Amino acid sequence: GIRPDEDLLAGLNPQQREAVTYRGQALLIVAGAGSGKTSVLTRRIASLLRGREAWPSQILAITFTNKAAGEMRERVGQLIGDRAQGMWISTFHSACVRILRREAEQFGFTKAFTIYDSGDSRALIKRLVKEHEADAFGLTPAAVQSRISKLKNELADAESYARSANMSDPAERIFVELFSDYQRELQRANAFDFDDLIGQVVYLFRAFPHVADIYRRRFRHILVDEYQDTNHAQYALIHELTRPVGEGGSGFESNGMMIFDAPSAAAEDAASLTVVGDSDQSIYAFRGADIRNISEFERDFPGAKVVLLEQNYRSTQNILTAANAVISNNFDRKDKKLWTDVGAGEKIVGFTGYSQHDEAQFVADEVEALRKAGVDYSQMAVFYRTNSQSRALEEIFIRAALPYKIMGGTKFYERAEIKDALAYLIAVANPADEMAVRRILNKPRRGIGDVTATAIARYAANEGITFRDALANASALGVGPKIQAAIARLDAVLAEASELMLPASGELAPATAVAEGLQLLLSQSGYLDALRASRDPQDEARVENLDELVAVTREFARNNPEGTLIDFLGEVALVADADDLDDEAGTVSLMTMHTAKGLEYDAVFVTGVEEDLIPHRISAGEPGGPQEERRLFYVGVTRARKRLYLSLAMTRAQFGEVTVAMPSRFLQEIPADLIDWRQSPGDVNSRGRAQRAVGARRPGSTGGGRYGDDLVPLARREPKNLDRFANRVTARVRDNGDLELTAGDRIRHDDFGEGRVDMVTGEGAKRVAHVKFDSAGAKKLLIKVAPIQKL
Ligand code: ATP
Ligand code: MG
Repeated sequence: GIRPDEDLLAGLNPQQREAVTYRGQALLIVAGAGSGKTSVLTRRIASLLRGREAWPSQILAITFTNKAAGEMRERVGQLIGDRAQGMWISTFHSACVRILRREAEQFGFTKAFTIYDSGDSRALIKRLVKEHEADAFGLTPAAVQSRISKLKNELADAESYARSANMSDPAERIFVELFSDYQRELQRANAFDFDDLIGQVVYLFRAFPHVADIYRRRFRHILVDEYQDTNHAQYALIHELTRPVGEGGSGFESNGMMIFDAPSAAAEDAASLTVVGDSDQSIYAFRGADIRNISEFERDFPGAKVVLLEQNYRSTQNILTAANAVISNNFDRKDKKLWTDVGAGEKIVGFTGYSQHDEAQFVADEVEALRKAGVDYSQMAVFYRTNSQSRALEEIFIRAALPYKIMGGTKFYERAEIKDALAYLIAVANPADEMAVRRILNKPRRGIGDVTATAIARYAANEGITFRDALANASALGVGPKIQAAIARLDAVLAEASELMLPASGELAPATAVAEGLQLLLSQSGYLDALRASRDPQDEARVENLDELVAVTREFARNNPEGTLIDFLGEVALVADADDLDDEAGTVSLMTMHTAKGLEYDAVFVTGVEEDLIPHRISAGEPGGPQEERRLFYVGVTRARKRLYLSLAMTRAQFGEVTVAMPSRFLQEIPADLIDWRQSPGDVNSRGRAQRAVGARRPGSTGGGRYGDDLVPLARREPKNLDRFANRVTARVRDNGDLELTAGDRIRHDDFGEGRVDMVTGEGAKRVAHVKFDSAGAKKLLIKVAPIQKL
């Protein structure tokens, strides 16, 4: 073949060179993090083009994210200029959309097909579940949706599933009906759901070999990054594309378990396939990713060349040693040791905060210090395991005026469920705010559509009253009885909350009323129930975020006992508004560890390194769960070039609960001499605790009052007695139902500790307990939602 120009190989080590220049049918590059897999893939594309071995249009490169695709395209462009035009560099999903747009007409769709996101398909499934009365068989829409998705990722359809299912079970029969009806409805709507995008292309290629041949002829070089995270459908797609031209497909065979014939090694006509991956970085098993796709590559493609890369070019030796030490605790893996020649570098910095705010403040301080030392903000990243952890970080960053962006997610106060919850509060605080009332009108769904909203608006205009007040006259709106009832219920919930939260009522301290009013709104409106009833993991995350918002109101109450609902909303509005900072000087990136895959930064903060977060508590019960969490941690740690910070908090108000956190087992797996603890878990437990309790500043902190409560009224001021908070059962959004309380009962409150009930006033959902707390004084609590326990 033609040698690519030497400059494309400049600086590459021998294995990397081989990976760039090898010309054969199948090439597998396996290597640890930061060893140049993605770089090699990029250079390989450049070298194919530079050597005129391939036209740009003959290249199909698959990346894991759109961002990675953009970067790869740009990089190839830098290496070889204009010739980079016309390549397909994209994710699996985008590539399949392009193919479907061209070919949809082959099998009964039109070019203009819609793509159903998970909300759309949920709505459709919900309707079908209702029609089939499938609820009675335990088939909730969420469960049906996730089962269908799993099956589609394995390329099963209703028919093939029926063959393997126990059809004498009525629930199975109904599920099969739902599955096939769902598919028929999609077709009728000229729509594909997300999983179909890939599965239907595989179907298309198998059913119409002449169509498949068009793409086999076109794509002569297929390259896949992050191959360890491909699922079965993606794997099958790659196989279809790498069959020899004209051989025809295998015929449509929709059984997902099918074993493929490997393309004949002799068939010069098959496209060349290059895949790169690292089984230690497989972190998407929960979405059907199958690590075996990489471990069985050599079986699937006999004669495949395998290149191993072992030199890491990203990180310092200290960071690598830590990463190696942790990942080597996973059994069932091939040991590979990464090394680097850049030297030991700085030690890893460890920090234990008292709370997540303390931890966030540490991160913010270090970010500022790094910036002063010349590190650009854009070269810093902060990782966490779950989205809801970003809230504390965001608040501290905003208050410290540090520019940041949330990657692959929405900022806390921009999330739909948070905006909904705030709209409920605004509807109470400011009934004239029509936007807010409109926002919650049909959230959760109560059958109030646009037509009704228009009727309400018209009525309000005619009567000269607010939109909110018009809700009180549902019967005058000229809408059906069902809708009338729904409006009346919403009105009643808002009225009840107003009574509780607006200062005139006086039953509760203003700030306590905000917290309890918010819980009341979320539970009485049915908003939480609707989310909880769903088994969509996104809805679970939404519940967590709402719990987090309740935690915010509780902190607000602690810090501003006399603060009103209006004060609270004002405070939040400021925080939310400051979200839009310009990013000219660069911004710090905040993201989950899942999003961090493939990226790199000079300085990386891995936060919340605690048991139950990383490894996450949901992983504990799942087969392979803890090992996957270890790989996730490994991904996080190996993003760092020069500096790595590992931080945790001793107490964490998570899911609305304040719990005492334990250091993650992964910390113990790192050799102790690699970590320089600024404040170790031990410091916090003993000596440090007392110091902090009286407000002493962390040694080395700069600027008077940085840690003062004045700067972070929403976010800080920790409980004085950590132990008391340690075993709090819950401060979750809760419903005590009709908890029986009478004068003389002893109770425990999450914030105020133990106390004695003096008397109970009010009725039903509005019963208020008047409590004399042992140390917190007299308080009034709304029994239904207060975080209390009878002792
Ligand atoms: P990950 O597993 O995290 O996806 P990777 O194996 O894809 O990592 P790259 O992102 O390609 O690794 O490379 C890591 C860093 O090392 C990049 O900054 C890249 O530019 C650099 N690098 C790769 N190879 C070399 C080399 N031969 N000389 C100098 N720098 C290199
Ligand atoms: Mg990579």
